Amino acid sequence: MPDTPASAARQILIRLHEVMASRTGAQAKLNKVVEIIGQSLSSEVCSIYLLREGMLELFATRGLKQDAVHVTRMTMEEGLVGSIARNVETLNLDEAAAHPDFAYRPETGEELFHSFAGVPIVRRENAVGVLCVQHVDPRKYEEVEIEALQTVAMVLSELISNAELVDEGPSDVRVASTGTQIVSGLQLVMGMARGNAVYHQPRITIEHTVAEDVEAERARVYSAFNKMREQIDSLAGTSEFGVDGEHQEVIETYKMFAYDEGWSRRINEAIDSGLTAEAAIERVQQRTRMRMRQIDDPLLQDRMHDLEDLANRLLRIVSGQLGTAAQLGLRQDTILIARNLGPAELLEYDRRRLKGVILEEGSLTAHVTIVARAMGVPVLGRVRNVRHMIAEGDPLLLDVVENRLFIRPSPDMDEAFDSKLAMTQKRRAAFAAMRDMPAQTKDGTHVELMINAGLRDDVGALDVTGADGIGLFRTEFQFLVSATMPQRERQQRLYKDVMDIAGERPVIFRTVDIGGDKALPYLRGEEDEVAEENPAMGWRAIRLSLERDGLMKAQARALLEAAAGRTLYVMFPMISEPWEFDQARALFDQQREWMLQQRKMLPTNIYYGAMLEVPALAETLDILLPKLDFLSIGTNDLTQFLFAADRAHPKLAERYDWLSLAILRFLRRIVRACEAANVSVGVCGEMGGRTLEAMALIGLGINRLSITPASVGPVKAMIRSIDLSDFKGRLEAMLDDGTIDLRAALTDYAGKSGIELS
Ligand code: PEP
Ligand code: MG
Repeated sequence: MPDTPASAARQILIRLHEVMASRTGAQAKLNKVVEIIGQSLSSEVCSIYLLREGMLELFATRGLKQDAVHVTRMTMEEGLVGSIARNVETLNLDEAAAHPDFAYRPETGEELFHSFAGVPIVRRENAVGVLCVQHVDPRKYEEVEIEALQTVAMVLSELISNAELVDEGPSDVRVASTGTQIVSGLQLVMGMARGNAVYHQPRITIEHTVAEDVEAERARVYSAFNKMREQIDSLAGTSEFGVDGEHQEVIETYKMFAYDEGWSRRINEAIDSGLTAEAAIERVQQRTRMRMRQIDDPLLQDRMHDLEDLANRLLRIVSGQLGTAAQLGLRQDTILIARNLGPAELLEYDRRRLKGVILEEGSLTAHVTIVARAMGVPVLGRVRNVRHMIAEGDPLLLDVVENRLFIRPSPDMDEAFDSKLAMTQKRRAAFAAMRDMPAQTKDGTHVELMINAGLRDDVGALDVTGADGIGLFRTEFQFLVSATMPQRERQQRLYKDVMDIAGERPVIFRTVDIGGDKALPYLRGEEDEVAEENPAMGWRAIRLSLERDGLMKAQARALLEAAAGRTLYVMFPMISEPWEFDQARALFDQQREWMLQQRKMLPTNIYYGAMLEVPALAETLDILLPKLDFLSIGTNDLTQFLFAADRAHPKLAERYDWLSLAILRFLRRIVRACEAANVSVGVCGEMGGRTLEAMALIGLGINRLSITPASVGPVKAMIRSIDLSDFKGRLEAMLDDGTIDLRAALTDYAGKSGIELS
């Protein structure tokens, strides 16, 4: 076997080329193919299974009993072959029978063979067959051999498709039903939209996989790369989001991939192995997809989607086939459908006509979601099987408030949608009318209503909502959307912009809460890193920042310099013991001192706060509070620690109520301690964004809430309709009495007292 994957595959492809060009029938060709591969890989057995009538059928074999051909059939759930097809993944085993999916088929006579390697034959991202080799000796196949098999499988997919040997997926969108359907999905960007279905991407079919002239193919890929890079560069230049937005960082990541040498090298290697330019791009993309399926890190997966987006673009350029729906131009109000989208692809759409997006995949932290949010386009994610339900042009209603999609809606659905839209608009208008009214109770207590933010674009919500400021700026978001560590200058630019937009309104910057589940790929690789079983309780937030103090120092400098000549508010996440606050604060003092020596302009005032998210801190508030300017309670983490209930666990999400006796009594204790120490206390967890919960919080004496912008209107309406001193007394009594169903008791109180809850 030649020692490079390219030369190994090429030798096989040269021989396959002759077979493909011959005038024999498809079965004869397959018989020849298994001989060639078996010989080239010195394998006693080489077999091809193809998908026919939903079953994987043995179509050709060298080495297994010929009687089994067209007799041995199995479902996608059966055996190693089924596992390869089902998971679209390669298997390489030295002892096939030891694998849990192994299923013995006596008619094949395969008991003689120990080692087994198989690769999926892929057509339009689905397996349509399996190519496998087997060997008497128990040995693993070498990487070069596996790569050669994968390349050959690509060529086979062309052969079997031309001969129409397999069940192919629908060549166009084939819709099972033409009636009304309602499906649900995951909320990625909230909003409502009406429009007609448009598929983002017409499928590209690869006509030829084996190259006639390797140099010519290389030249085609080279010029396609140039064209693609030009497109990306011009997209970066014309981005409508200005120069400094997070979107700029998104595009930068994109550019990094477009210019990635490793990627173009792998495509060139695939061309060396004898593939056409299209097949080489697809081959590399297939490999990426397979690897992507094995990666468990959603962040890295999102970045891989960017790469897929670029590969599709490259494929379209090189094949000269139809562009995306964006390139063809939208003609009407559109709800766009895609498996996934890259941010650059989304930016190419005409915003006047693009009303909503449906993704079969998608996640909250994906770049495309961030971009869509900034464009104000609602996005519903994780909608399965759309291609089988929606035909191009179908009317759709997208409700990403209740996370539902109405396909070909009935007239009454249309009407209900209209009235919901009108209601939402009316409610929004009513809340907007309260924008400049104070968040003041009927008996005159002012509650500071602030918003939570994390990206530059979120800051615009200050004006829209009339909020008093930003009570939690999650600085780690900038780190999460970047492919590389944001340097100090970039951090500083963001903080300065945020303060500029906020003007006189305070912004409380929380230092980075990374680590644990908010892992950053570029922060990995520490020698002493250990796998974490409980990342939420692990090496995260202030724990990580104090250890990696270079990161914290850079952030301190960025904040201090950005706030030169104005007031700076800083708070530290996950403080568990007072010394952690002392050390974090000392780090800021040190940077401030250095700036003073350098005669740099400093903030006029600096206020330091801590987040109470770890229950243990409640026991040392007597020591901590005198050092603080303010305390902010992070109820998201606090409740998960109080109840030992993972906040992301779907089964636990509804189990423990924020309005439980344990939580409210705990919070009361903290509020009392803060009142005694004369330290201002607020809440910045999601709890404060719900009207009934917010009512309980202000009843406990909390007079600063930092909440999601969409909640400002409803919470303000609640505040303006309550008589706080009456309610405080009632709540106090409920907590003392040990009222078990506090939610019911509070709802009842609100109903009887005319308090507006929504
Ligand atoms: C919290 O834990 O309540 C909080 C506000 O922080 P985060 O949600 O970012 O962990
Ligand atoms: Mg938290």
